[in-house]
Amino acid sequence: MDSAAELVKLQQTLEKNFDNLPLATKPEDLVHGEGDPSASVMFIGEGPGYYEARERRPFVGRSGKLLRKTLTEIGLLPEKVWISNIVKVRPPENRDPTPEEIAAFRSYLNQEIELINPEIIVTLGRFSMAKFLPEVKISQIHGRLHKVQWEGKLTYVLPMYHPAAALRSTQVTESFLADFQKIPKILTWLKEQQEVRKTKRKIEEALF
Ligand code: URA
Repeated sequence: MDSAAELVKLQQTLEKNFDNLPLATKPEDLVHGEGDPSASVMFIGEGPGYYEARERRPFVGRSGKLLRKTLTEIGLLPEKVWISNIVKVRPPENRDPTPEEIAAFRSYLNQEIELINPEIIVTLGRFSMAKFLPEVKISQIHGRLHKVQWEGKLTYVLPMYHPAAALRSTQVTESFLADFQKIPKILTWLKEQQEVRKTKRKIEEALF
């Protein structure tokens, strides 16, 4: 089964088990990730808001519009990346998700990451950042690429401000836009690293 089909199966499993999940009162409360299942970049936000719950799509409200517009500006079409959230159901009044809610969706999100297998994970806001980089301050590390050991695998994580924070402050908007400009450069750098590794392997094979 390819990753697109596996993702659909995973989403169906979650919907079947909705009554074991916090926040969900029916399968339709779930807002799944969307985009290209073979995306190089995966964005992880916090949780659906009012518009996301209504349309059953992640990041379609005000902050989603900023995210999608900025993606297009750097030449990455929103349908060519994967966009998802830490929790898949809207917390009431858009409050912060609790540690128990985050834990309840953890294994689903982990399987989603495994299936997408992105080259970079961009965390939007402190909740998704804490999944990979606990006990750091977003103001100190946003926009810096981190190589972390996560679930036994080396993973590149780029922490960013949440677009909702960018909408609230001009200073954060500037950082948010500047951090986004780094994504194409990081993708190019990662491709170059892969080429270097390939060439090294070829030389080793020829020599030994
Ligand atoms: N904020 C998020 O974190 N996720 C969404 O999908 C929408 C707003």
